Amino acid sequence: MNFTVSQKKKNYKVNPLEMAQQQLETAAKIIHLDEGILQKLKYPKRTLIVSVPIKMDNGKIRVFRGYRVQHNLDRGPGKGGIRYHPDVDLDEITALAMWMTWKCAVVNIPYGGAKGGVVCDPQKLSEQELERITRRYISEIGLIIGPEKDIPAPDINTNPKTMAWVMDTFSMNVGYSVPGVVTGKPLSLGGSRGRTEATGRGVVYITQKACEFYNIDIEKSSIVIQGFGNVGYNAARIFYELGYKIVAVSDVHGGIYNPDGLNIPEVYSYSQKKGTVVGYKPAKNISNKELLELKCDILIPAAIEGQITQQNAPRIKSKIVVEAANGPTTPQADKILARKGIKVVPDILANAGGVVVSYFEWVQSLQAYFWKEKDVQERLKEVMENAFNEVVEVMKHYKVDMRTAAMILAVSRVAEATKLRGLYP
Ligand code: NAD
Repeated sequence: MNFTVSQKKKNYKVNPLEMAQQQLETAAKIIHLDEGILQKLKYPKRTLIVSVPIKMDNGKIRVFRGYRVQHNLDRGPGKGGIRYHPDVDLDEITALAMWMTWKCAVVNIPYGGAKGGVVCDPQKLSEQELERITRRYISEIGLIIGPEKDIPAPDINTNPKTMAWVMDTFSMNVGYSVPGVVTGKPLSLGGSRGRTEATGRGVVYITQKACEFYNIDIEKSSIVIQGFGNVGYNAARIFYELGYKIVAVSDVHGGIYNPDGLNIPEVYSYSQKKGTVVGYKPAKNISNKELLELKCDILIPAAIEGQITQQNAPRIKSKIVVEAANGPTTPQADKILARKGIKVVPDILANAGGVVVSYFEWVQSLQAYFWKEKDVQERLKEVMENAFNEVVEVMKHYKVDMRTAAMILAVSRVAEATKLRGLYP
């Protein structure tokens, strides 16, 4: 297949697709994966590129570019978020779709991997323009999404309101309500209790398990979190509610640091008023670069890809890195962290809580029967802890790090499904 990886993007230290493919190759080598299956898994099953023309508020027409990539559907329908960001491109969306395949397989839910995005800067668009983008984008990718085909969800810069537009647009196009076409919906449209905080909550459960496994006393630990959006904020809030100490958080504008611990609800209301955490007192302003290099016990990148690289990895000082964001650590940085004895809990395990509760939402939507928040939390905890334990078993069996183990578990499950289904026609 002639699928080439494009030039490194200006805003990335590395190309995320190269990163995802390298991670796959590492796992494939260890389990002696059949070369044909490896080739199948290295590239997406289906890629749809669409133009999204909308009328702007000033009456002019502007055309945005949108993508939906389905990496692998052998274990079930595609699942993956929709991202609105100026840096979105095909390699990024393809890498994210591939990570979704592994993530669903690691936590053993019956989905394949997909991802979508529109190249746009939501900060510079009105709510009406964002609604028009969403509605046209969903109409364009409507060909390949649906409750049995591919089920989108929120990602960077999309939220329950966006998912309500997704559900409405798809439903209007087919002529009846289809709540199962999307997850992360508002509760009143068939959303699941606990979905908004699910990724952050899953990060907390996995951090607790990882600390137990690596003999780190979480009660006495200092936690640093990069990113204060859906994932970073919710993880910070739940850690705070459990009485753990978060010493630094950040957003795209910069970070804040207080070695005695931050009052997260106060930081949140400050950031809601000011549009950033920067300037919050009592804390010192720091840059994102400084934040990543702070001396701490637990570092949680929860913003975007490619944050821990071979440039800054030698200066990372935490005991463990829990990857709440997708792809925050480059393969080169992984090696440096391993040499320094810093343990990395990989994204496909650490941030899978969102897709697990998305799965619960899809099940509830299809059954039109809704669970209590307590049930959602308990079932999420069970799935996350089981996945962690299974990854640890693979680590011990193959004597590999946690990322490689999670990849081995995921790739083996997908490869098994592929082999059992056989090749069509
Ligand atoms: P979000 O848009 O709600 O928040 C992103 C946060 O990161 C914001 O605080 C933003 O200011 C900050 N940020 C953006 N660019 C940055 C930069 N260059 N440096 C520092 N901070 C920056 O997004 P989210 O939903 O919280 O997603 C965060 C990460 O988690 C992404 O990698 C996403 O793919 C991943 N993820 C999200 C979910 C989910 O359910 N939302 C699930 C799994 C993984």
